[in-house]
Amino acid sequence: MEGNDLSSLEKCLLKSEALHQYILETNVLPREHELLKKLREETKARIPKRALMNVPPEEGQLLAIILKAMNAKRTIEVGVFTGYSLLVTALALPKDAKITAIDISRECYEVGLPFIKEAGVEDKINFIESDAVPALDKLVEEVNEDDLFDFAFVDAEKPRYWDYHERLLKLVRVNGLICYDNTLWLGTVAHPPQQDVPDFVNYVREVVLKFSGKLAADTRVELSQVCIGDGLTICRRIA
Ligand code: SAH
Ligand code: CA
Repeated sequence: MEGNDLSSLEKCLLKSEALHQYILETNVLPREHELLKKLREETKARIPKRALMNVPPEEGQLLAIILKAMNAKRTIEVGVFTGYSLLVTALALPKDAKITAIDISRECYEVGLPFIKEAGVEDKINFIESDAVPALDKLVEEVNEDDLFDFAFVDAEKPRYWDYHERLLKLVRVNGLICYDNTLWLGTVAHPPQQDVPDFVNYVREVVLKFSGKLAADTRVELSQVCIGDGLTICRRIA
């Protein structure tokens, strides 16, 4: 569980902390599922330096609404960590749904697994411990044309987002959604590289800028850049 220390970073893009608090207190936290709360707290306690990587609860709430409104039954999760967005998804989907969840490491998934089990949704999840690109390639090989996925949530290696995109366009049905997380990258995309931040922040800034530029020009999808959490780009496959 080594890695960069993110604990001093602020991921909320809203410029007013009071406004963020207002949203959390009014709409989000009172409705957050008890086990999502517990998973989030356990992540903070066990992996404090990287707990920020969990999708924030207001974004989880948005994902759940989208999944329910589109009646999703088959989804892909690329980048699980301790499983906040995965548990959000598993709670939102019907009993007979299937989530294919991919992460290069199982270690963090196991921190969240007790809460997934307690929620009684473990049966919906097929966890694949693998680098995402070969795992997606395998899915592309195996997938049945008339049994494509409804939805994908992407939150793994930012420099590989375009590789994920090419594969997900073969896995997610026309009209299905592919969501990319962290596309506003701490708000850095609107500013020149900064000197007083860790190197990886500027590196990922470049990577995200390049990815979002290509995505904006991709006629195979419609998209919406949503300013929630660290920025979420929602793509609808149209071709
Ligand atoms: N969606 C999660 C957060 C994901 S954090 C949540 O809401 O909790 C990013 C995850 O991507 C980490 O768990 C990391 O292990 C995983 N990851 C990084 N590189 C990867 C790769 N090449 N293939 C698959 N997963 C990868
Ligand atoms: Ca993320």
